[in-house]
Amino acid sequence: MPDYEVVIGLETHIQLNTNSKIFCGCSANSWEDEPNTNICPVCSGLPGVLPVLNKAAVEKAVLLAFAMKSNIRKESFFDRKNYFYPDLPKGYQITQYDKAVGSGGYLDLPMDGYTRRVTIEKLHLEEDAGKTKHNGGDWMVDFNRCGVPLVEMVTAPDLRSADEAAEYLIRLRQLLRWLDISEANMEKAHLRADANVSIRLKGETHLNTKTEIKNLNSIEAVRAAINVEVKRQIKEVEAGRKIKAWTLDWDEDTQSLKKMRSKETEADYRYFKEPDLMRIDLTDEWREKILKDFPELPLERLKRIEEQYNIPYHHADFVTQDKAFSDFFIKAANLYKKDSKKVSNWMLNSVKGLLNIDDKKIEDLYLTAEYLVDIINLLDEGVLHSTSAKALLFSVEMEEKPPLVIVQEKGLAQVSDEATLMEIAKTIIADNPDQVKKFRDGKESLIGWFVGQIMSKTRGKANPELAKKALLEELKE
Ligand code: ZN
Ligand code: MN
Repeated sequence: MPDYEVVIGLETHIQLNTNSKIFCGCSANSWEDEPNTNICPVCSGLPGVLPVLNKAAVEKAVLLAFAMKSNIRKESFFDRKNYFYPDLPKGYQITQYDKAVGSGGYLDLPMDGYTRRVTIEKLHLEEDAGKTKHNGGDWMVDFNRCGVPLVEMVTAPDLRSADEAAEYLIRLRQLLRWLDISEANMEKAHLRADANVSIRLKGETHLNTKTEIKNLNSIEAVRAAINVEVKRQIKEVEAGRKIKAWTLDWDEDTQSLKKMRSKETEADYRYFKEPDLMRIDLTDEWREKILKDFPELPLERLKRIEEQYNIPYHHADFVTQDKAFSDFFIKAANLYKKDSKKVSNWMLNSVKGLLNIDDKKIEDLYLTAEYLVDIINLLDEGVLHSTSAKALLFSVEMEEKPPLVIVQEKGLAQVSDEATLMEIAKTIIADNPDQVKKFRDGKESLIGWFVGQIMSKTRGKANPELAKKALLEELKE
């Protein structure tokens, strides 16, 4: 079989996390609301009303455009995209067409051993439509989502595998949360992706007919659906058939694609400038204000952390999963100064464990970077062993007290629980085979000497009774 190359472009719709909708005062978040309870005359398209632009939506779109290295237009316009569909009460969608807020741009994806540059073909603001659904024999419509602010962002056909497509969405999601412009939760449709997929023989440069996959609401679904579709297309071509420009619907339950419709021609949306809205005039002052505190971006920070702190790529990737998490790492690594990998290791294991307990974010933790470093220092000094250091980290979070306070209040003997003493006992036993032999041969008075070793290792802070118990247990074999 000849070698095929997969060509993928992704069309994404990103829900901006503004308080209100893009052209009216209704809440932009109606996830838990009953159908048609979060609507007003503007977003439900009643005649005689006028849209008023939500500035926050523009600002968030500008942040995204800047992060994607797009050209940000000083003047951009809204247009009407006309089509007739039950979820669109006005009969048109207010969107941006040829003079959108951004033009061009790219995202560089760090893949295994190479970088994939994905160029951006479209980046514009628009309003969301409503939602239709079948209910028994009825066809229902919910307008709650009408007028929710979206950025539509479309990539060029630059992606070459399902993994690259998944990586694009992972990095986009990370970026959106990093900039705090979208919750980017795919399950809640904050981030929606359609994939355009075609194949060609390796080395060819033209684009073959593509199919469009819809209803992908997780990154795993994107990966799975593309793989299924690529297999189908190869099979078709190998059998001498032509790929038709279908729109396909991903069925999560059966992990298969169903044909929704065939798409012969582009619909004519009869775009024209929206007469009810002024152009967006992004003055230099406004632009400056929006971009004033623009952060170091996730992939730039990942690279810097990997190099500057000399930690493995997967550690750097892990600690830059979100901005607050990476701020925590940087603070801790700067305080600790020594081996930053120790810090990233603690974050990868124990701190992550704390977050998993009840799905917390790092900024919600009582544990701070300072406290983490205190604990690592106690471990370095031999005051604590790893098991009790981990227990201390847990106590800090549960009792909401600084580590040194807990150590002081309880005395280290209590902090150094039996497991820790056991560990110390094991090392001492391993390090002193002669004394162990004597003890086992009957010189039981040596136990005092062993306890002395534990006391000196813990600087006198171990509980001697517990130390003795741990030693006897270990010496017994
Ligand atoms: Zn409204
Ligand atoms: Mn759109």
